[in-house]
Amino acid sequence: MGQMKRAALRAIPAVEKVVQALGALPVPRPMVVNLVRRELAQLRKTGKVTSFDEVMEQVKRAVDVLAKSRIQPVINGTGVVIHTNLGRSPLSAEALAEVESTAMGYSNLEFDLSDGRRGSRGVYLEEGLANLCRSEAASVVNNCAAALVLVLRHFTAKKREVVISRGELIQIGGGFRIPEILEASGATLREVGTTNKTSLADYRKALGPETGLVLKVHRSNFFMGGFVESPSTEEIAALAKAKKVPFVEDLGSGAVVATEDVLSRSGGSESPHEPTPAEVLKRGADLVCFSGDKLLGGPQAGIVAGKRKHVQALKKEPFFRALRCDKLVLTALQVTVETYLDADGPPVLKMLGLSEGELTRRAKRLAKKLADCPIKVSVGRGQSQVGGGTMPEAKVDSITLDLVPRKGGLAALASRLRNAEIPVVGYVSGSRLKVDLRTVFPEQDASLMEAIRGAAAE
Ligand SMILES: *Cc1c(COP(=O)(O)O)cnc(C)c1O
Repeated sequence: MGQMKRAALRAIPAVEKVVQALGALPVPRPMVVNLVRRELAQLRKTGKVTSFDEVMEQVKRAVDVLAKSRIQPVINGTGVVIHTNLGRSPLSAEALAEVESTAMGYSNLEFDLSDGRRGSRGVYLEEGLANLCRSEAASVVNNCAAALVLVLRHFTAKKREVVISRGELIQIGGGFRIPEILEASGATLREVGTTNKTSLADYRKALGPETGLVLKVHRSNFFMGGFVESPSTEEIAALAKAKKVPFVEDLGSGAVVATEDVLSRSGGSESPHEPTPAEVLKRGADLVCFSGDKLLGGPQAGIVAGKRKHVQALKKEPFFRALRCDKLVLTALQVTVETYLDADGPPVLKMLGLSEGELTRRAKRLAKKLADCPIKVSVGRGQSQVGGGTMPEAKVDSITLDLVPRKGGLAALASRLRNAEIPVVGYVSGSRLKVDLRTVFPEQDASLMEAIRGAAAE
């Protein structure tokens, strides 16, 4: 062992020599130097080196992993429209063009062009959002989780308790649990009812002198069937009003149009209705909050809308300053809101509404062009999802390109596709690797074909 280790040590080359031998680097040199240093230290520790080539192979793999971790465009063949791991909602070209022109120079972010004085950030956007939510007022913070924290801190500053149904103490995504958010905000949780049943009487019993807020959380990422019961927004709102306690509903996804209409355009077999901010406010909630980058189809943001006095009070919280959005986000959201008010909405809505006919025509064209490929390419059927923890029960039929390798496994093919110039992420179903065309933009078809050809040739 001692001898082997000494031999190994002699075989460890200098950092400079390794970096030199890598040739053209895909990421900045100092990052590669650091990485090589770490890799060599690792080899020195394990003492498992026999040749320079072996060292180079390991280092190249590490550099490749590092380069792949750079944020970069990906072709989404998963069929999940709002894919949190793939960046949620894609933005429109219009939104991006405006972000570019305002962010590359100066803007009137907090400057009133009418009177030449200091202006207030995002006033126009707030006006547009209020219009979209048919609310007295609206404002924006970094994301819906931030909106929730702000709301909780504000309403439970004096009276500590927040009343919430046990059926709504849910986990929303990677490590985001409603009960933890509530407690991190300094509120005391007052759980009512059971997981499957909560009655209005449960709420009534819990409301007392310590209640600062009644919170309802939309079950956006799962659904319960069977022996379930929970009071309606109207009922809770009436009770909260009678007891003079503010009532907030966290909608999560924030669809501002009738989702059933959008989904039925796609020919979806089940097109549920997602409650809109306007509907929920009309039913009596004092405020609603929802995400900017789920069904709304904009950038990451959290929107609060509802009673003017509450929105204004939230904006006066010192904590609001820590959660405020950047100009890039505000600009992108401004354009997203406008696309609802005077056009046909952002890209996510268009994708959800694509018909099977349109997708089939594209799929056939692609499959025909790929007929000479060494792997089998055919047109298949699949099921897209709304995603983002939104509308789990919606069924959106879709069309896929099905890839079957002639030799080698599906996992190897999937890996080669992820290694393409523009990486492609599909999904495995049975003996096929599927690429759902609903979430692939037509302008990506050429890159998709190139990736498939490349992966097939290897
Ligand atoms: C997604 C979701 C959130 C969190 O939204 P972010 O914008 O990701 O912070 C909060 N509540 C509900 C019900 C959600 O579905």
